[in-house]
Amino acid sequence: MKRQEPTLDKLHMLDERGSRHYIYPAEVSGRYSNLRPWVFALLIAVYVSLPWITVGGHPAVFLDISARRFFLFGRVFNAQDLYLAFFILTGIGFSLILLAALFGRVWCGWACPQTVFLEGVFRRIERWIEGPASKREAMARGPMTMEKFLRKSAKHLIYAIIAYVLAHLFLAYFVSADQLLRMIKEGPANHSSTFLWGVVMTVILYWNFFWFREQLCLIICPYGRLQSVMQDPDTVVIGYDRKRGEPRGKAHQQGLGDCVDCRRCVAVCPTGIDIRNGLQMECIGCAGCIDACDEIMVKLGRNKGLIRYDSERALQGGQKRFRRPRLYLYLALGLLGLTVSTTLFVRHTAFESNLLHARGASYVIDGDLVRNQLVVHLINKNPSATVLTIKNQSAAPLDLIIPQPSISLESLGSIEVPVIASIPRAAFKPGLRVSLEVTDSASKTSRRIDAALTGPNHSP
Ligand code: SF4
Ligand code: SF4
Repeated sequence: MKRQEPTLDKLHMLDERGSRHYIYPAEVSGRYSNLRPWVFALLIAVYVSLPWITVGGHPAVFLDISARRFFLFGRVFNAQDLYLAFFILTGIGFSLILLAALFGRVWCGWACPQTVFLEGVFRRIERWIEGPASKREAMARGPMTMEKFLRKSAKHLIYAIIAYVLAHLFLAYFVSADQLLRMIKEGPANHSSTFLWGVVMTVILYWNFFWFREQLCLIICPYGRLQSVMQDPDTVVIGYDRKRGEPRGKAHQQGLGDCVDCRRCVAVCPTGIDIRNGLQMECIGCAGCIDACDEIMVKLGRNKGLIRYDSERALQGGQKRFRRPRLYLYLALGLLGLTVSTTLFVRHTAFESNLLHARGASYVIDGDLVRNQLVVHLINKNPSATVLTIKNQSAAPLDLIIPQPSISLESLGSIEVPVIASIPRAAFKPGLRVSLEVTDSASKTSRRIDAALTGPNHSP
């Protein structure tokens, strides 16, 4: 069957009837294609190892949603700290927008998990089992033979196993690696909901990486759809130098541009587009076409870079322009989010303590004394259990009764400790404050908390 020629008025992955046009990208090597597997390996190593690395006795990243607590690199957060997520997401979001404004879809081509696992794992296995693109395409279109059956079966079996492993690694971020291993040992019957999540994730990952593939980038991913808004003519993208390449034609013909119309750049494209038609939404910035074209140019003894990283303005012969007002705006917003979230993260306290008036009457008169009933609200935000000690630091003649001056608390455990403050009625005056010092044994830090006393003719 003849391969359909891409046109500019529809998605290249669809044929005339709107059916999926399956793409078999050819193999390519070159400086970018050789560097990408190393980047992918590094990112996969980070993804795989994070739930297994422990910091302060807990996984480096553990999002314990069921208990509403989140362990991040030795710090523990609870639902009250969710405002931190807003600043983290704002910082990351605007950093990605800045990256897109500067370098187009460099994230998509080099660091997006979809690309990392598709190109770094699944496509490599496919090439290893089914051979190069031409062989894969011929096999897919040919009749079922024993060889085809065996190769396809082996590929799908390995895909399913890897999808299963990836799904469980993903689950480890939410149930912790130790718990996950225990659950696997105890069997699905004892952990049916986690098992069901594992199955659903396995099926989704398997289906995505064996069939859906580039459609995720083109149809579902919002970052890909927003590229045209974030980029401008000065954004560095992967582009074809039309001035140098056109008119295209055979290498031996005189008076033509450098493009010899070999279509190698199209053959290697994982989304099946022809970059010579200009910047297109389907381009994920993988740089395969740069390496493919450079290979041809080297063979012909011509300069590399007919397809290259450059701005649209420069590709059209204009002056490169790096600084643009919008970059400063993205940079400022990205830095704001990252700075605030980093500051909050670094200054995150090991425990929370608040001194409040107890519910009910704000004070009682007991003979010659004015009494205030208060409560100390404590939350242990250490990743481990701790002992919190409460000490009176109030000035005489204020007398305090603290029935529980020393409290053991589990990580993220909380408690309300009653405190009774008494002062002779004659000594009471507005502005007097109860002052306490709370010391945390785990972090070896202390904090002072205080509250105003209330009494006759004076309410808080
Ligand atoms: S690989 Fe280079 S020379 Fe070949 S068609 Fe593409 S742009 Fe032209
Ligand atoms: S056009 Fe080039 S950079 Fe874009 S997806 Fe295709 S091969 Fe990758």
